[in-house]
Amino acid sequence: MIIVMNPELAGDAAETSAVERAVARYPNVSTLVRCVHGAHRTLTEVHVLGDTAPLPTDVFAALPGVERVLRVLQRYRAIGRHEGQAVTPGFEYQGLQFTQESFHIFAGLCAVDERASVEATFRALQALGVQTTRAGAYKPRTSPYDFQGLGAQCLPYVFELAGKFGIKVIAMEVMNEQHLNQIQSALRESGNATGVMLQIGTRNAQNFELLKVVGQQKEMPVLFKRGMGITLEESLNACEYVAASGNHQIVFGLRGMKTNLGDPHRNLVDFAHVPVVRRMTRLPVCIDPSHAVGKKSFGPEGISDLHHVTAQGVIAGANMVLVDVHPRPEEALCDGPQALTLDELKPFVEDVHLVRRAYEQRLALFHPAARRT
Ligand code: PEP
Ligand code: MN
Repeated sequence: MIIVMNPELAGDAAETSAVERAVARYPNVSTLVRCVHGAHRTLTEVHVLGDTAPLPTDVFAALPGVERVLRVLQRYRAIGRHEGQAVTPGFEYQGLQFTQESFHIFAGLCAVDERASVEATFRALQALGVQTTRAGAYKPRTSPYDFQGLGAQCLPYVFELAGKFGIKVIAMEVMNEQHLNQIQSALRESGNATGVMLQIGTRNAQNFELLKVVGQQKEMPVLFKRGMGITLEESLNACEYVAASGNHQIVFGLRGMKTNLGDPHRNLVDFAHVPVVRRMTRLPVCIDPSHAVGKKSFGPEGISDLHHVTAQGVIAGANMVLVDVHPRPEEALCDGPQALTLDELKPFVEDVHLVRRAYEQRLALFHPAARRT
């Protein structure tokens, strides 16, 4: 059961303590107060754990300061969208909103290889008005002999250049706590020139200790990428670890499933799950067409599969697109075949915005504006 407090109340309000005392009168239950700092409002929720079935909802609903009482019908207590829960708080980071209504393109380097690539990419993004990017410093590679990423040594210039070119958020994968600490200190040393969204890669989707580590800090949001070989339910449960550890600033990423049934694509594109995740959770949803498709093959009309699958995710309501770009894909040290060139980036961004406008027209067609909360 979740008792949602009125949005104007502070997390430590007397009304919240009174609700906790009221719950304490019942046997075999305990409470956990959660403050969710959303993009538009702060939500205080009193989560009631244990044997909640005998508890009457109306008693709690009548207490001062209570907005509503929800019964948790499914497992995803923190990230799930429960019975009648229309508000999806999302979060604000670096002045940008990340909600189920917002939209951002994170275009950038799969792996940072040299300063010049970062500079050229950020310059191209700035010219297109894009303030969000990706830049891999730590790369999980199938072979130990492949390029593993430049690690902490590239962070100072990546953050400095981000500040110079107006990049507000960089999606960056971390594989252990040390990576997180290195990012935190390099950000501080850069004078917080930019922000980082910590990416949990598909290979670490069920690394529960890492999920707890990124969940225990609230400084940086988390992009959780679905596990490539586990069910959606398993991925949502894994993602729940981040929120249950305290960090509710989460974006859920779809990046394709590993199976030969997706051939000739690198993975079986799973963007049909965009509306599913939006319905089941309160999280903004990201699609990664680059890692889903894996190369730039073109259809007979001259549009690449990568553009087509991006369009499929965006027209279904994706809130974020993560896409690989490289100034010279043929020289990239990681995933070159799927990277757009800087010249290809402009039509890609235009195409994505065109499809996003089509999604908004679909919303107007199917949804009265009042329901879009
Ligand atoms: C990446 O985005 O660089 C990456 C390795 O993706 P994934 O974890 O989805 O394979
Ligand atoms: Mn990659």
